[in-house]
Amino acid sequence: MLTVLLSLLLQAPQAAPQAPAAAWFKGADEKCVFCRIVAGVNPSKKVFEDDHVLAFWDIRPRAKVHLLVIPKQHVKSLKELDELPVETRAALLSACVRVARENGILENGFRVIANTGKDANQSVFHLHFHVVGGEKLREDAITKEAAPKGP
Ligand code: ZN
Repeated sequence: MLTVLLSLLLQAPQAAPQAPAAAWFKGADEKCVFCRIVAGVNPSKKVFEDDHVLAFWDIRPRAKVHLLVIPKQHVKSLKELDELPVETRAALLSACVRVARENGILENGFRVIANTGKDANQSVFHLHFHVVGGEKLREDAITKEAAPKGP
């Protein structure tokens, strides 16, 4: 009997080294790249985190400072903002100001952008605010020139 047990134990496959367990946030979409960052499955260059939000560098910065602030809870866009608890909604904007201050762009000016839906070229369908600055930004982020002033 003991021999049988020993031989079973010896034949047991070696456990593969384990990556840290993913910590999926409530309501996470496992295919969503930002939910994967929140869960620690995908890497990010994190600059701030609390119970509600996460902030990290955009993978392709388009300004000297280009950070993203996201709710940990998955919602598709600003259109679904009211699906988030009120504490999370408040934490999002506070985090935008906080990361601007902590990354040295508060005093000279910064911009917060939430591309929402296809006309706005939203690329990742997990609500995110771009916090950009660190250099003089273009006058605006709206495609068309303003209509000429009237007479
Ligand atoms: Zn997500």
